[in-house]
Amino acid sequence: MQTFGYAAKTADARLAPFTFERRALRPNDVAMEILYCGVCHSDLHQARNDWGFSRYPIVPGHEIVGRVTAVGPEVTRYKVGDAVAVGCMVDSCQQCDQCRKGEEQLCRESNTQTYNGLDRITREPTLGGYAKHLVVREEFVLRVPAGLDLAKAAPLLCAGITTYSPLRTWNVGPGSRVAVVGLGGLGHMAVKLAAGMGADVTVLSRTPDKLVDALELGADALLVSSDAKAMSAAKSSFDLIIDTIPVRHDVSPYMMLLDVDATLVIVGQVGPIDEQSTFPMILGRRRLAGSPIGGIAQTQEMLDFCAKKNILPDCEMIRMDEINEAFERMERSDVRYRFVIDMASLKE
Ligand SMILES: [Zn+2]
Ligand SMILES: [Zn+2]
Repeated sequence: MQTFGYAAKTADARLAPFTFERRALRPNDVAMEILYCGVCHSDLHQARNDWGFSRYPIVPGHEIVGRVTAVGPEVTRYKVGDAVAVGCMVDSCQQCDQCRKGEEQLCRESNTQTYNGLDRITREPTLGGYAKHLVVREEFVLRVPAGLDLAKAAPLLCAGITTYSPLRTWNVGPGSRVAVVGLGGLGHMAVKLAAGMGADVTVLSRTPDKLVDALELGADALLVSSDAKAMSAAKSSFDLIIDTIPVRHDVSPYMMLLDVDATLVIVGQVGPIDEQSTFPMILGRRRLAGSPIGGIAQTQEMLDFCAKKNILPDCEMIRMDEINEAFERMERSDVRYRFVIDMASLKE
């Protein structure tokens, strides 16, 4: 099937219109027309080869919402017209212990990424959601529950599940004391999801000017990390800290804020962090951890949870041809809080 979208042809090229083929349907494939696609920080990093493993041309996009247009003969769960979604992965081995547990994101043979991955059968590069159509095997297609606004749901597929998964791993519920560092695409979802689970949520910020935003998103308080007195008073007062900052930074000021056996989980930054002292970890039995996205079953659970609680990201809708400007604005953190591309704006 011929389709079209936007691709970067080299690491220093701007994204531009691109025509390409989607594979013919395999028996267990679902084909969809893409209606909306969120814009994630990793789209920008991979378009520019910041991590050193980009394949070109690259079509980014892994926060995808669409409508089924065709299904293969073995597909049982979806039919033409269904509202569906696809996140950061489109395949895995389906055999290993992690896949069998529903933790496909941790597949022992690595999951297949929605873009800049390699198809497990043809070994051709996968191309993502900045496009009109997509073909994905049934097992990696999510259902968008009735009642969830299709135009706003897309960022749940990466920013949503990346923050929902650690909240579930560390059993956050009513009364849990959760702090969120960084108030961007991931951070604002962490606040909404933790509040939706009944936690007491604190936003950690260098300056007090995010107080109104934090409270509007559902937080109970803002702790100013440059205020030494307030930081000292907050020692040992959190069960979980979700650190969503996307660039290299020092996590040590936050470690003392953890209670005994509590965890600081990094979800935003991939790469080296500043040197750490083991003092807070050893003396307080505190933990420093990381977490990726969740598995397919948990991603569906998250979508259903958001529909039930009416939790949606704050989105700024853009046209496909505004993507380069959106990348530049995202680099300056000039977005509240996630760009979403309206694919109706993408014309051949
Ligand atoms: Zn992402
Ligand atoms: Zn596997």
